Amino acid sequence: MNSQSHWYITTSIPYVNAQPHIGFALEEIQTDVFARYHRLLGDAVRFQTGTDENSLKNVQAAEREGISTAALVERNAQRFQALGPLLGVSFDDFIRTGAEQRHIDGVYKLWRACAARGDIYKRPYQGLYCVGCEQFYEEADLVNGLCPNHGVRPEFVEEENYFFRLSRYATDLHRLIESDQLRIVPETRKNEVLGFIQRGLLDFSISRSQARAKGWGIPVPDDPSQVIYVWFDALTNYISALGYGDDAPAYQRYWVNSAQRTHVIGKDITRFHALYWPAMLLSAGVPLPTTIFVHGFITVNGQKISKSSGNVVEPGPLVEQYGRDALRYYLLRKISATEDGDFTLSEFVRTYNADLADQLGNLLNRVVRMITQYCNGVVPAPGPLREPDQQLIGLAATLRADVERELSNFTLHKALAAVWTFIAATNKYIVDVEPWVLARQAKNSDQPTAAQTLATTLWVLAEALRLIAHQLAPFLPETAQALANQLGIVLHGDATWPTALYWGQATIGAQVQPGQVLFPKYELPVSSAAYG
Ligand SMILES: [Zn+2]
Repeated sequence: MNSQSHWYITTSIPYVNAQPHIGFALEEIQTDVFARYHRLLGDAVRFQTGTDENSLKNVQAAEREGISTAALVERNAQRFQALGPLLGVSFDDFIRTGAEQRHIDGVYKLWRACAARGDIYKRPYQGLYCVGCEQFYEEADLVNGLCPNHGVRPEFVEEENYFFRLSRYATDLHRLIESDQLRIVPETRKNEVLGFIQRGLLDFSISRSQARAKGWGIPVPDDPSQVIYVWFDALTNYISALGYGDDAPAYQRYWVNSAQRTHVIGKDITRFHALYWPAMLLSAGVPLPTTIFVHGFITVNGQKISKSSGNVVEPGPLVEQYGRDALRYYLLRKISATEDGDFTLSEFVRTYNADLADQLGNLLNRVVRMITQYCNGVVPAPGPLREPDQQLIGLAATLRADVERELSNFTLHKALAAVWTFIAATNKYIVDVEPWVLARQAKNSDQPTAAQTLATTLWVLAEALRLIAHQLAPFLPETAQALANQLGIVLHGDATWPTALYWGQATIGAQVQPGQVLFPKYELPVSSAAYG
């Protein structure tokens, strides 16, 4: 490894007008895998998340509940913060845009830098505004006059607003994105953004009147009649949290001088992150993010998740019943990292039973039981390697390369699929080698090599499980630890992790510790469940 590099990764910050559902859990968990992976590689990682609180949506949600906006965002921000312990999401920092001075300082500094550059100007504006989307629409973007996302008629707004001169940056943005200096993953999203640029970039509104904002939000510097419009405010969280406002050391370390600055976002906000945000930074003379990774949406039973269709799936009850890693596994493996994917409770339980209980849990159980039964619970030293042993060891090297490649491509589902291919091969190895036959032969004095072959086999299996535990560490951290505990080995959780991915001698002499069944099986749910 080269010297430690700084590595910064963020989730988007959600509006807090509702409870977190599994769609946002997906983003948190995906981001967590990258953060954990880079910590294990020895990078100095900072993983940031938070909440977008200065939105009219929050004001309206509070009005509906008959409480103050401040009380609503306070309560709901805590629910988002609680996702960390609930999902095993290892964020280092959580920023609340409505409550923190460091954020206001950062927003003011960025606004003033863009204004000094001549990129902020005031003009009268008329437009059709959807509060649900927090954006203006052109007539042509509407479906029968209604917002394409919310199916409601946008309100007609006419007032003086501040604008940001996005049009000035079209050429620069095109060059940076085309050349991957600002890398947009996957390629389909990159092409979409290049398409936006080719169709022309209009300056965008970055403020609204105090009256329309209902007094909620950060006032425009030197013009208290206007409030800063959500995107200019919200996007700034990525640097305000690091202390951009007062040029703090963390801002220098994790933004200005870091090796990677990665934003993980949903596909509906690509335009804001890939165009508006980099343009604001170019204007202010601040370095751009290096990578924007765009994930798809989760549907539930094929339907878009929405309160009105009653199909909101909250992560809490799933974690409570099936375990944290069961949810992490489903979202990371069954939802393509870059495409839309579907959640149904029956598919969730089927996947749990097939992949986690039958394949992984059962493998651990068999290996620990055989080592206990045939070798008094101690992993033996191997004898000479035979053909099936060599084959499995070869697959372990392939696994290491596959996982590394898929993670650098952001294809988390393929990385986990590679681990499960190896788990399947290890299960097949047991069936092929038949250790129980070797154990019987070993008792038989006319089969002198059987005991040695049995020892080699059990060592191969223990070593395979040790590698599986280490490969799973960024994805399913609890499961990785449970595997290591039952194998009686140390789980490398620091920068020694990459060397632990190589086949070796580390399990010889380990004392296995038979424990609880890792993933007890569940009945498939009956279809009358709230979500089938
Ligand atoms: Zn809308």
